Amino acid sequence: MLKNKTALVTGSTSGIGLGIAKALARQGANIMLNGFGNVESAQAEVAAFGTRVSYHGADMSQPAQIEAMMAAAASEFGQVDILVNNAGIQHVANVEEFPLERWDAIIAINLSSSFHTSRLALPAMKAANWGRIINLASVHGLVGSAGKSAYVAAKHGVIGLTKVTALETATSGVTCNAICPGWVLTPLVQQQVDAKATAQGISNEQATRQLLGEKEPSMQFTTPEELGELAVFLCSPAGNNVRGVAWNMDGGWTAQ
Ligand code: NAD
Repeated sequence: MLKNKTALVTGSTSGIGLGIAKALARQGANIMLNGFGNVESAQAEVAAFGTRVSYHGADMSQPAQIEAMMAAAASEFGQVDILVNNAGIQHVANVEEFPLERWDAIIAINLSSSFHTSRLALPAMKAANWGRIINLASVHGLVGSAGKSAYVAAKHGVIGLTKVTALETATSGVTCNAICPGWVLTPLVQQQVDAKATAQGISNEQATRQLLGEKEPSMQFTTPEELGELAVFLCSPAGNNVRGVAWNMDGGWTAQ
């Protein structure tokens, strides 16, 4: 379905981004990966689907590096048809104790990077009259949780950016939507499980149950594979007129 399309997925060396990159590659899309850590294994996992896979190590907190990544994608693949803004980090602390440097980093990586990639991808998408921008927001783009001021502010901002981008492309073949997962057991969440277990002197299993029980009625994690399939739907012809939505996949978190 996505043969001859190119998808750039930010923060795709791990977790949700890697799951989405694999789902898009399974549909035939060429993939540009981005992120830190275990780059080679991520490349190998995506390359297994037989499409072209490339990597750029741009730091999403640095606009000049984002520009270099977008230029590299255009020169390597012609253009970016599908942009998945997924890179994100977390820090948990109350507002009055929140480290300034963490606030700035979260706003830059979780929010501003999506503005930069989008502004650089949109001209070619509009010229081709086809494109998909998928922003990984979160349930925290819809509701708050104590201790997550920067993350919640950034994710609410991502949903705002999604709506405006969708309106500005509404008469074209370009769509922009947000995906709002609840808990997904990736390194980003495992850190929060570990912190809970250490703080309360409980097992990893108890901490996991507590984490789910506080927020997620299904008591189940959403998986990167399930989120990958939602991204595939948004890229499909059936998604042609899905515009500006914030689509939760959250085990009932925001239904409460
Ligand atoms: P993760 O920690 O598994 O992966 C994050 C990815 O972002 C990695 O590839 C990492 O290398 C990359 N990254 C981090 N900082 C970067 C930077 N400065 N520049 C470039 N890449 C950078 O996290 P995840 O759980 O897969 O999260 C992915 C996205 O999904 C994030 O935007 C996160 O906020 C969102 N999300 C996650 C959950 C969850 O429960 N895990 C829930 C809702 C939303």
